[in-house]
Amino acid sequence: MQHARILSRSEHGISRQSISPGCLKVLYGLIDAGYDAYIVGGGVRDLLLGLQPKDFDIATNATPEQVRAVFRNSRIIGRRFRIVHVHFGKEIIEVSTFRALADATFTSADDEPLSREEAQFDAVRSASGMILRDNVYGTIEEDVQRRDFTVNALYYTVRNFVVHDYVDGLADIDRRCLRMIGDAEQRYREDPVRMLRAIRLAAKLDFSIAATTEEPIRRCAPLLASIPPARLFDEFLKLFLAGHSLSTYRLLQEQRLFAQLFPATATALQREPGQLHAMLELALANTDARLAEGKSITPVFLLAVLLWPALEAELRRQPAHLPPYQAQQIAAQRVFDDEVGRIAIPKRFSFPVREIWELQLGFLERRGRRAEALLAHKRFRAAIDFLMLREQSGEPLQELRTWWQSFAEADATVRASLLQATPSTPATPGSKRGKSRRRRVNSVQSQVMERSEQ
Ligand code: ATP
Ligand code: MG
Repeated sequence: MQHARILSRSEHGISRQSISPGCLKVLYGLIDAGYDAYIVGGGVRDLLLGLQPKDFDIATNATPEQVRAVFRNSRIIGRRFRIVHVHFGKEIIEVSTFRALADATFTSADDEPLSREEAQFDAVRSASGMILRDNVYGTIEEDVQRRDFTVNALYYTVRNFVVHDYVDGLADIDRRCLRMIGDAEQRYREDPVRMLRAIRLAAKLDFSIAATTEEPIRRCAPLLASIPPARLFDEFLKLFLAGHSLSTYRLLQEQRLFAQLFPATATALQREPGQLHAMLELALANTDARLAEGKSITPVFLLAVLLWPALEAELRRQPAHLPPYQAQQIAAQRVFDDEVGRIAIPKRFSFPVREIWELQLGFLERRGRRAEALLAHKRFRAAIDFLMLREQSGEPLQELRTWWQSFAEADATVRASLLQATPSTPATPGSKRGKSRRRRVNSVQSQVMERSEQ
């Protein structure tokens, strides 16, 4: 095992002030109890880059039970990967015990040798080499080897305020480069989510990805199909709600990973880039801008946009005789049935997405009570934003959108006059996008229009 390069306090410039009080308590608590404890991962990386870490992860030679015994305010969680959460009010510090690569060692951290069988039981691999469970404890040197990128494998201790670097991570921090530790392809096979982490961190940090780390991604992308949809939902949130969704999306497309997350959308976009692509990019740019302004964000709107191309494609497959709402309901159901096979989108998000979509049809009916009811709908605002996004990306919806905005802002008398002045031929959304492709949706919409004009 190689030796660590050790960076002293004056060389790395990390100050205790930028470390959260909870994190410091855990570090000192473990050290006082006689264990080793380091900040590792994103915390050290971000501190070295002069960024405020979003959370702190601690690595220690204490087992989860030993950590649990030091902090009353802690809980052991996880099965695939047992870690301890130490709670300080809202802040949670994640503490993990040094781990060994599945086949690297057969001893646990409390120095009790594990039999080969026990070790194999603890670090279960699937036939394709994927690590399913990973609870073989090890030394810090071993812990380094199972981390993903060199810049995520720097260890900082408050014992003497030094940074330990076993894998030339500091040089990669200087180069602003993500480099996989070990053989990249093998590491992606062990855990395909590492491909998504490469993209997410490259976008977040504005880092390049080392050629040998990037090269296997396109080839290994299909391995993501083996990841449980619930884990992919978590990763989806991290990818798209961290303030860098546009660059993340572009990198995901470039590396053919987007099609693994949103297969139907990827296919639809490939067939018809143009307006749908513009709409997606615009929505992502808006999301990033909102986050930059400190505004809140929910995955609902983003999912409505990300799955809209899939919905349109599915709508075109519905028989023409179906009433539009019914056709859309069936199509939306299919879209989610397919998508949750990849990303487990909880119902509390998919329901409102479907409501936003339904309101797009509802907007075509500008009649008395229906229009009033639509105003009161709890997704009205989001649906108007969605309509606006469609307009901004090239659909001829300006008249319809301004009508609804005026209607929403008007008093009762103005509303009545707006309803009376409703144009007899409402806007036909989507006409810009080519007749054959839009046939189904246009016919859906014209049916709604005919009904609303009766
Ligand atoms: P962020 O700033 O988003 O928190 P992070 O690098 O800290 O980025 P975490 O998910 O908090 O990401 O993980 C903490 C550390 O655990 C990582 O820096 C890395 O060392 C290690 N790690 C996390 N996921 C994996 C993985 N799939 N394979 C190998 N190591 C991982
Ligand atoms: Mg982290």
